[in-house]
Order: sequence, then C-alpha cells, then structure tokens
Amino acid sequence: MTQYAVEAPAIVGLPIAGSAELFPVRRVYCVGRNYAEHAKEMGFTGREDPFFFCKPADALVAIPAGQPGQIPYPSKTANLHYEMELVVALGRGGMNIEVERANDCVFGYALGLDMTRRDLQNDCKKQGRPWEIGKGFDASGPIGPIHPRAVTGTLSQGSITLSVNGVQKQSSDLAQMIWNIPESIAYLSGLFELKAGDLIFSGTPEGVGAVVKGDKMIGHIAGLGDFEVHVV
Ligand code: MN
Repeated sequence: MTQYAVEAPAIVGLPIAGSAELFPVRRVYCVGRNYAEHAKEMGFTGREDPFFFCKPADALVAIPAGQPGQIPYPSKTANLHYEMELVVALGRGGMNIEVERANDCVFGYALGLDMTRRDLQNDCKKQGRPWEIGKGFDASGPIGPIHPRAVTGTLSQGSITLSVNGVQKQSSDLAQMIWNIPESIAYLSGLFELKAGDLIFSGTPEGVGAVVKGDKMIGHIAGLGDFEVHVV
C-alpha cells in the first residue's frame, strides 16, 4: 500500500440523486460571461470566444437535497456575489471533442453557485492578475446533487432562477447561453484533456449581486428542482 509523507487529500465525492454512489470530482472548470445580458452588466458585449477559469475541487460545498446548506462568509471581501449556474458533470472526456458528440460525455447536471469575491476579482482584472483569490476561495462552489442525464434527458433550455430572501434576483433561460453546453465542452476539450469527474460551471445570467451573512438563497433550474444555500 502506498505510503504518503503527509496526510493524503480525500477525493471530493458529490451525492447523485437516486443513487447511493458518489460522483468523484477531478477538476472544476467555469465558463466566464456566457449569457449576453450578464456580459453586458459586466461591461462587455458580443459573442467573444468562451473563456474559462477553475476552482479547486475542494472548494465545492455539497448542498443536500430538500434541506438548506450553508457557506461561510469568506475573508477579505466586502462584496460577495452570487452567480447561479447550471453545472455539467462529465462521465467521460477526451481531447478535441466534436460539438455533435459532446453531450455523450455528460453524466449529469447540478445546481451550482459560482460565489465570487467581486471586489478582489475586479482588482485582479485591473491589475492583469489571475482570478483565483476572487473565484477559487474555500467554499466558493455550493453545489446540489448530480442528476443523471439518463433521468433528466439532455438539458438545453428551461428556466434558471435565483432568489435572495424571497426576492427574485436572477431569471433567465438555459437557451440564452452564448456558448451552449456541447459547444463549451468542445471548446474546452481543445485546451485541456477532459476526463470523467470533471465539472463545468456553465456561466451565470444577468442579475448578479451581493449577499451578506444571514441571507438565504434559493436556486432553481427546470428539471433539477431547487436548492437552498444560507450565508453564515
Ligand atoms: Mn460564473
């Protein structure tokens, strides 16, 4: 048996709806500015090539089905933003995957929040620095159970919403993505060899904003139900 010099990190496993098995997470990719109205509110326009950043797998926080989960308000920010997103879980990968075959790689889907220290991210943008401190901090990725595509079918349209303390803040449709799921998988697979266990946060619609301690967020995507995340 392999002996490690220090305690080996655990594999991050996410619950799968309707199964006792866990989904083992390898990498967490995120698509930036993938809804036109959100690109506009961030000061951009048009259909630029997609771009990607990553979160560490252990920044995910599994939110249980049917009951609220919690994330801590992170350090070093005064502007913590929610970004409600459809998360795609890959059951297999490859390089240079064709758009027409990309959905074959999808194991399932989940509700996710790409939590963002917007003040730190904006500083990074201004200074031309990487985004990790704004995007990849601990507990920055609350995520619901993985719903197998075998059950949900392929998701390409349907409502995506987020409310905070009962007030709707984000409301769009998955069909409004600039780069749809198979296009994002295909593009990403030209940059990285994708593998089973990879997740892709597919971008957020318009209406992003700040939350503070005590706020209660409820995210919804048609076909995946709801999840509830409290900031504590
Ligand atoms: Mn995002």
